[in-house]
Amino acid sequence: MTIFQQKRLVKTFYIIFFLFVPLIIHLGFIQLVHGDEYKQKALEQRTLKVALEEIPRGGIFDRSGEKTLTLGNREPRVVIFPEIILDKEEAAGKLGLILGRKPEELTRYFEGRACFLPFALDYRQVRQIKELGIPGIMAEEIYFRYGPAPLAAHVVGHLGPISNSHQLERLNNLGDKKYQLTDLVGKSGLEYFYESQLKAGESNRFAKAYVDVYRNLLAGLGIKRESHSETGRQDVITTIDLDIQKTVEKVMDQKVQRGAVVVMDARNGDLLAMASRPNFNPANIALSLSGHKDTFLDHCTALYQPGSIFKVVVAAAALEEGLVKPTDTFVCLGEKDHLISCWHKPGHGPITFEEAFAQSCNPVFAELGLKLGSVKLISYARAFGLESQTIIGYPVPRDKRQNLSLIGEPYNLVNSSIGQGPVLTSPVQLTAMMNAIVNNGVYIEPRLVKGLRDEKGRFTNHFPMGSSHKVISCETARELKRLLSLVTTRGVGKEAMVPDYGTAGKTGSAELTGGSKKVNAWFCGFAPFDKPRYIVTVLVEEGISGGATAAPVFREIVEGILLPPH
Ligand SMILES: [Zn+2]
Repeated sequence: MTIFQQKRLVKTFYIIFFLFVPLIIHLGFIQLVHGDEYKQKALEQRTLKVALEEIPRGGIFDRSGEKTLTLGNREPRVVIFPEIILDKEEAAGKLGLILGRKPEELTRYFEGRACFLPFALDYRQVRQIKELGIPGIMAEEIYFRYGPAPLAAHVVGHLGPISNSHQLERLNNLGDKKYQLTDLVGKSGLEYFYESQLKAGESNRFAKAYVDVYRNLLAGLGIKRESHSETGRQDVITTIDLDIQKTVEKVMDQKVQRGAVVVMDARNGDLLAMASRPNFNPANIALSLSGHKDTFLDHCTALYQPGSIFKVVVAAAALEEGLVKPTDTFVCLGEKDHLISCWHKPGHGPITFEEAFAQSCNPVFAELGLKLGSVKLISYARAFGLESQTIIGYPVPRDKRQNLSLIGEPYNLVNSSIGQGPVLTSPVQLTAMMNAIVNNGVYIEPRLVKGLRDEKGRFTNHFPMGSSHKVISCETARELKRLLSLVTTRGVGKEAMVPDYGTAGKTGSAELTGGSKKVNAWFCGFAPFDKPRYIVTVLVEEGISGGATAAPVFREIVEGILLPPH
């Protein structure tokens, strides 16, 4: 070998050496550092799994952060892994006997992928399935999102399939969550507004069968239950109080076919209950779709004529502006009154302002409205939040029909002064208005969501209490509270009185179009009278009057909240 050849050999050796060293280091690195991970991945590829959660999604909780509003719970179901069942026909026969179903009914599950069956199991069946001892058939607890009678259905909302590929694309662009066309997504309420936060990347509980290439269960691994703690989901923590919401829904189920009830915490403007009728069940949307067209409409945030409840705004403005004193006397000529007819057809005759408030006399408020003028009335109504549709944490799109400036249009002021004509408000808005009177004249923006919580229990997004501003003086607020108490002690809202605690409030009976004798019946008030804790608004559509229809519902709800059964 020549020197030249020797040099070339050495050179070649070095080239090969430097080429292979990184490769060897890399292989060693993979083996040492990522060995377990790759082993796990190889195992995962031969893993059959069933999610033990119906819909992988964060929860929607009440104010405690512990009680779920969807009332979902764990129920046992049959979980099957068809690929590892040796004699499928025999297994289907045996399982059919336990479930009381023909084997043919079960065939399609035995031909498909691993899944849980849709049949409810009792505890005897659970025991029998365990005793069967067929590998690949087991009874497991599945977490269902919605219970049979969920609460605050309109606030929680409902889920549905992704409509089309455009929606799929939009969802995939929302954040880092990946969607498939088969996913269920929020269609209304909080399920819709917080879709990207609630959505989980995967289930948090699985039954997993580890198999070899021949689909035999791996010795020592077999079928295991596994929990995953990082699925990317977040919980929504609302301000709703589960017990108060339950009380409200129970009374509504008995007394209100169509309408809304709102309960607010007088201290901070938090919404403690929001219930709407007609109701629907998020667990069975198909059933509700055949119902009335506004079944999915949240009546708590929908717009209605407030009727005489608007007289509270007129009274507040007139008192604050010094245009009236409680003892001032007016004259009501009943249905023949020159300004507007009174609901009390013979007329109230000579009547003081405070009595006119207690009896909800129309001509007196029409006269006061004219005295105030539309500019001032609009400005007070706005200050009471009657044009603000903002609810913290609940971004319902603004309904543009609400336009208080219409009060200023010709011929509208008289009708507006008694809450008819162009004045439209939602039950939530009226509740916040009443809260301003209870809170010494300070308006607080209503809040429905406290914040979001991640899987480690940390608050990731906190919505602070609503902003506030002064609307009327403490003196005017105190005077209004006294006037509101006259309604329940000797006026048209006596049915709303809760003995011992004391209540106060205002009735409303808003006429319906089309010559119907029925009205939208309102009562908006608070309790206990001395130290108010709850503001409650009741709307019963197509009732007789606020005093006859809504006030008794108010009383029953307040009694249910203040005197919980022992
Ligand atoms: Zn009258």
